[in-house]
Amino acid sequence: MERKNAWKDYSAEEKEKAFSFAEQYKEFISNCKTERECVKEFEKRAKAAGYIPVEEVVKERKKLQPGDKVFCNNMGKEIAMFQIGKRPLEDGMNILGAHIDSPRLDIKQNPLYEDTEMALLDTHYYGGIKKYQWVALPLAIHGVVVKKDGTKVEVSVGEKEDDPVFGVSDILIHLAQTQMAKKASEAVNGEDLNILVGSIPLEGEEKDAVSANIKKILEETYGIQEEDFLSAELEVVPAGKARDYGFDRGLIMGYGQDDRSCAFPSFDAMLAARDPERTSVCLLVDKEEIGSVGATGMTSRFFENMVAEVMNACGQYSELALRRALAHSCVLSSDVSAAFDSNYPDVFEKKNTAFLGRGIVFNKFTGSRGKSGSNDANAEYLGHLRSILDAKGVHFQTAELGKVDQGGGGTIAYILAKYDMQVVDSGVAVLNMHAPWEITSKADLYEARKCYLTFLEDADYGICR
Ligand code: MN
Ligand code: MN
Repeated sequence: MERKNAWKDYSAEEKEKAFSFAEQYKEFISNCKTERECVKEFEKRAKAAGYIPVEEVVKERKKLQPGDKVFCNNMGKEIAMFQIGKRPLEDGMNILGAHIDSPRLDIKQNPLYEDTEMALLDTHYYGGIKKYQWVALPLAIHGVVVKKDGTKVEVSVGEKEDDPVFGVSDILIHLAQTQMAKKASEAVNGEDLNILVGSIPLEGEEKDAVSANIKKILEETYGIQEEDFLSAELEVVPAGKARDYGFDRGLIMGYGQDDRSCAFPSFDAMLAARDPERTSVCLLVDKEEIGSVGATGMTSRFFENMVAEVMNACGQYSELALRRALAHSCVLSSDVSAAFDSNYPDVFEKKNTAFLGRGIVFNKFTGSRGKSGSNDANAEYLGHLRSILDAKGVHFQTAELGKVDQGGGGTIAYILAKYDMQVVDSGVAVLNMHAPWEITSKADLYEARKCYLTFLEDADYGICR
């Protein structure tokens, strides 16, 4: 029951479409490397496409009609978009969910120090990383510094051709005998992921002259003091653009493709959806990589509150109607899947594994050790999805995350399922997942977008009661 390679089915025209979508995607992931940068860009594009802020709807007591488009930006790190459908919201929504945070090194609140006339910034890694992958490569610093007076300074250094880059040093192989004998998980310590940021002493300064010079540069460039690190969110990410990968340019190498390879096609399909029967939703959340916690993570009440606001503006709100709208919804909870890696075949079970180029991946369940922590999608829902995707010729495959006892992972699916929605894990297959540079297939990105659009325009709401 092998699934077909999408490239084999493409006409020259279709291949061209997939390549052209990949260009837009590469530009997006090259420019948006943090959740804040993603939300800022999505908000800009949504507004240009006619989406209005929910706050404006509430303040001006606007009445929403079918076809109207609204969005809400939650604290600059999460965004929810709605296109009002012809059916009442109580009948449920078609929801695309994905996350826009990615593994990285976060700069600590009190980070700056000097050691042997080198200035460094201390970090605390975010999400699951193989620490040894984050040394000896060019890194950029992205984020915001909020001063006591409330002004917000945006920082992005290391991406422009003439920007400096930063990095974490690694010991030379000649002196690495002790390090090389360690387990890979211990070869590089989390506490040693310090970013080297300077080496020139400030003239006339006796003590810690190099870090004094860095403080002077920060003051001159951004108008920030050392104390301002206390209220900053600075993320250290791989420096540089996403690139084509391979002679035939079929793949893309780039940072943060978990989960922007699902978030971007979801967003793009949301903009393309026209006059849906059921209300369309695109929900792009933060904090998935650390357990969906916090006000901007999936466990927050934000989404539920926004559905209530939208229903209210449609003149359809009641507590019961809200519960029904949530319970009658269908969700494609998108997160990346592990692509089969021929260098490590032992961790995969080939019949139930995702392959690059075979289309969007459905994981009936994720989790680990006997499906623990997963949302197990209903067979009825999967049957329905198969039928609408086959009708539109969308390439899809099904998979599990590796062999049964090999490990596993979680997504936001189980959190949405708490509302009693129909939820399935779906997404794009990724090679090198959580490494600084991740790989996806242009065909899979293109098929994901097709799948999302097909799903949003699906009018057969029967499956969701
Ligand atoms: Mn993910
Ligand atoms: Mn992840």
